Amino acid sequence: MESIDTRDTHDVVVIGTGSAASSVATRCRAADWRVAVVDARPFGGTCALRGCDKKKVLVGAAELVDGGRRMTGKGVRSAEVRIDWAELMRFKRTFTDPVSENSERRFARAGIETFHGRARFVDGRAISEAAYKDGQQILNNWGAPADQIVGPRADLLNRYGIQAVVMNTFEYNTGGIYALAMALAKAPSSDWQLVYDDEQAMVFLRHPPAGTPVFSDRVQRVLDHLDTECTANIQHSPLAYLCARTMGDYWMRARDMPRARRMLQLYLEHALYKDPVAEEALRQMGGSGQR
Ligand SMILES: Cc1cc2nc3c(=O)[nH]c(=O)nc-3n(C[C@H](O)[C@H](O)[C@H](O)COP(=O)(O)OP(=O)(O)OC[C@H]3O[C@@H](n4cnc5c(N)ncnc54)[C@H](O)[C@@H]3O)c2cc1C
Repeated sequence: MESIDTRDTHDVVVIGTGSAASSVATRCRAADWRVAVVDARPFGGTCALRGCDKKKVLVGAAELVDGGRRMTGKGVRSAEVRIDWAELMRFKRTFTDPVSENSERRFARAGIETFHGRARFVDGRAISEAAYKDGQQILNNWGAPADQIVGPRADLLNRYGIQAVVMNTFEYNTGGIYALAMALAKAPSSDWQLVYDDEQAMVFLRHPPAGTPVFSDRVQRVLDHLDTECTANIQHSPLAYLCARTMGDYWMRARDMPRARRMLQLYLEHALYKDPVAEEALRQMGGSGQR
């Protein structure tokens, strides 16, 4: 694919043509911005081409056959209900085939330029594998003190000229803590300031604009935030419960037993598998992990 540099020709280039990209692109265009969209796959995105619509029809057909079979001999005669795969695929194509062309036509009608191909940022700040790895290194600072702005983390923050960090504090699949938050909290206040904190995110700025309120108790804020974010996340996504195990261990090591008890209790209430070590620890603290 030819290489196109859109920095001077467009106000925004939207990567993808699915539901998210379409809504961003059309709104920016409605505000009279010069907008382009680019997609490496046929236009239309996952939902319309490979996800929702197609799934509903295929799952619907399977459920119908399954339901018929289950009810046969129980008041339903369904000997003839079966999947005709070729016909089902023909039907599926009646609504997936037109998607790409219609999508491209809609963009064109709205005055949005369309490109086919894989987009990447020319300054390497995002969606390249190397930038992803750098992001992970900034978060975790492998090979150097995890809770300090030193070594590879400091080099990368400087190399990318990062002035603002908007982050959550857990990798929810493993329950691991992103140590960057504590490193930013411990950094001299002349280097980094904490300017925002809610149950989902923290925002650190290198040089907050004059007059921006900042939190003076950054380390305590981060510690409180870890519990709050983990608890709120489990409420929304009960399967992402491992952060509570991490925090339970953390508070046990810090000898803050009320907090350790609360987080281990939360963990055990959601854990899918037995964890005798956590159960015993909780029992010794006078709690119970029973659901
Ligand atoms: C099997 C299945 C069933 C689903 N069922 C439902 C459902 O019933 N209800 C529901 O609400 N959701 C459902 N979903 C989820 C839904 O499809 C997604 O939430 C939705 O498509 C996300 O939209 P999006 O615009 O963020 O991304 P997508 O629609 O995935 O679009 C992203 C686009 O970006 C392109 N792209 C990515 N990187 C680049 C790049 N570097 N350069 C160029 N192009 C790039 C991709 O090719 C893709 O076309 C389902 C998903 C699947 C897989």
